Order: sequence, then structure tokens, then C-alpha cells
Amino acid sequence: MSDKPCPFCSLPASRVVDENDHAFWIRDGFPVSPGHSLIIPRRHVASFFAITFEERESLFQLLDQAKLVADAEFEPDGYNVGINDGATAGQTVPPLHIHLIPRYQGDQADPRGGVRWVIPDKADYWIRPPPWALPDA
Ligand SMILES: [Zn+2]
Repeated sequence: MSDKPCPFCSLPASRVVDENDHAFWIRDGFPVSPGHSLIIPRRHVASFFAITFEERESLFQLLDQAKLVADAEFEPDGYNVGINDGATAGQTVPPLHIHLIPRYQGDQADPRGGVRWVIPDKADYWIRPPPWALPDA
């Protein structure tokens, strides 16, 4: 992982909403929607694929908890759950963190595709006819 100071280790304790054996969660400092939360393992690890089974359990317990808290507080209509795993995938903060992004009816004119929009040219597959539907060249 990079040598940059870890932004999660320098958080004031008041930012931590709750924690368990291997993880904690916070509200995102730059929320993309009300209730946007981050679930973070205690151990410094860059990739979701490098964590232990116990860490996954801890992370998913807090993911569920953060969802219930957001439900109660904001009553969203849906959620995106996402991990940017690697710089190529958009990870800008090196330690692994899971985004829980509440979604609200009307927050996007057309929300179809959700996380597919990480590659905008390929996101809206439903507007392109499948190859088997194209006329023969
Ligand atoms: Zn840290």
C-alpha cells in the first residue's frame, strides 16, 4: 500500500458510528447522497480479496447495520454497494473501504445500470440491440 498517511487512522473518534472486532464504519466525508457510509477493516489492507473470512464477517455485519441506520434515518428507496478495488478501478484512498450509497427516487433521471456506469460507454446495454438482433451485413 502507498506511503501516504492513512485518512482513516487519523479520523477523530467521533466520526466512528460503530465498530466490531475487525471493522468500523463512518459516514463518508464527501457523501454522494444522504447516508453515504464507508465500512472499513481495522487491518491495513488494500484489496477486498486480501481480507480474511473473519474480516469479511465483521465488514458485512457493519454493512447491514449501516443500511438499517440509513433506512431509519433517511428512508432511501434503494442502495448501491461498491468497492473500488485498485487504482484502475478508481480507488483513490489506499485502504480497503466499502461504500454503502443510499439511493432516492429521482436522484438520477435514469438510474438504470447503476454500477455499470463505471464504464459509461458500456453502461446502457439496453439501448443497443444485441448482436443476434442486428441485420446481416
Ligand atoms: Zn489506517
